[in-house]
Amino acid sequence: MTATETKVFEDILKSLEGSQKVFLVGCGSCATVVQTGGEFEVGEMRTALEAAGKTVTGAAVPEEACKILDMKKLLRDNKEAVAEADTLLVLSCGAGVQAVAEASEKRTLPALNTIGQVDQFRLGQFYEWCSSCGECLVGEYGGICPITRCPKGQVHGPCGGANEASARSTRRTPACGR
Ligand code: SF4
Ligand code: SF4
Repeated sequence: MTATETKVFEDILKSLEGSQKVFLVGCGSCATVVQTGGEFEVGEMRTALEAAGKTVTGAAVPEEACKILDMKKLLRDNKEAVAEADTLLVLSCGAGVQAVAEASEKRTLPALNTIGQVDQFRLGQFYEWCSSCGECLVGEYGGICPITRCPKGQVHGPCGGANEASARSTRRTPACGR
């Protein structure tokens, strides 16, 4: 699944300069699992924007924001709230933001940063195993991605810092201590 993290709220507000009325779009799949764009986070964003003086005309959390045809239908289904808004703020990965932008002629902005491909190994804890490099090498490295799982992204074998002390983190699973 695609990992995302919420942008700094002040940066979101800065991107919204000139926009007063906002319609929010979340994502019911990856962004819900990583707790950045589900119903709860969209509700939190609405509360924060309203506290900052913005008007939130409406919000929706589709199953997956990265499906252009679904986004066209979602915007049609919410056409009054969307028409009232001057900006669409999307709480999904960049693919979802672009699908919403493609489905609408409104100004469309991201509320999240996309940080990679992850898998959940325990509730709320994730492996990051792929950086979508476009030239998969795992077949040559025993099924382990050297680009993502090595903290230095090395593809020519372990460095001098190799040890077994590193703990798994939520972002990476380093094989060495850097
Ligand atoms: S929009 Fe991005 S975060 Fe949402 S389902 Fe598609 S890939 Fe996952
Ligand atoms: S080499 Fe690593 S980053 Fe590249 S596609 Fe394969 S798993 Fe993803």
